[in-house]
Amino acid sequence: MHIVAIDGPAGSGKSSVSKASALRLGFGYLDTGAAYRALTLSFLEKKIDVTNLNSQEIAEQFDYAISLDPSNFWVRAFGFDVTEAIREPRVAQAVSLTAGNTEVRAYMKELTRTLVSQSQLPGVVVEGRDITTVVFPDAQTRILLTASEEVRLSRRSAELPAGVSLTEMVTKRDQTDSKVVDFMTPSEGVSLLDSTELTFEQTVDAVIHLVRELR
Ligand code: C5P
Repeated sequence: MHIVAIDGPAGSGKSSVSKASALRLGFGYLDTGAAYRALTLSFLEKKIDVTNLNSQEIAEQFDYAISLDPSNFWVRAFGFDVTEAIREPRVAQAVSLTAGNTEVRAYMKELTRTLVSQSQLPGVVVEGRDITTVVFPDAQTRILLTASEEVRLSRRSAELPAGVSLTEMVTKRDQTDSKVVDFMTPSEGVSLLDSTELTFEQTVDAVIHLVRELR
């Protein structure tokens, strides 16, 4: 199986680029941020304090399913479709706290590896923050996708709900997240792909090129 690991900050275009690349390659697509978001949503609904949970308790509590089909994406938690709900600002505001729990991270690492290994797909594009470094450090293709802060903010402003500040949704979240994992500088062997000056199609082309180069 060919694993394409893609990391990057909010607004770098990771999700849309990963999904489009997976479609062109005939690979699966796995959004790992969705699991952190779904777990956060469950904690918010059940009023559970994230700081007090260990990975065993999380495994017992978290009933999760996600599509790996890039043309039919859905996320379910406890039998409910949460594809839309996990994008709510209250989730974005709370997710970094969940992601800062090392027990949660250990659980997510195993969950991601299991989802990929059980998929029986020829390849999977896996995107997140720690995929190139922690989850799949041996992936055949490893990419850090970035863009200038200005471009990332302008991309995100287009999808911003009323009453929510960009700083809160992007800059603050990235700052908090990067205390836990470094997704701003590529680790050794990871290709840096800067999309600041590239169109969406050019960025996808660059990913495909890196994948084919290494095949
Ligand atoms: O990618 P997305 O913005 O949906 O991720 C939501 C949050 O999940 C991030 O802000 C980060 O806190 C966490 N995350 C993570 N490691 C990953 C993927 C996401 O910590 N591999």
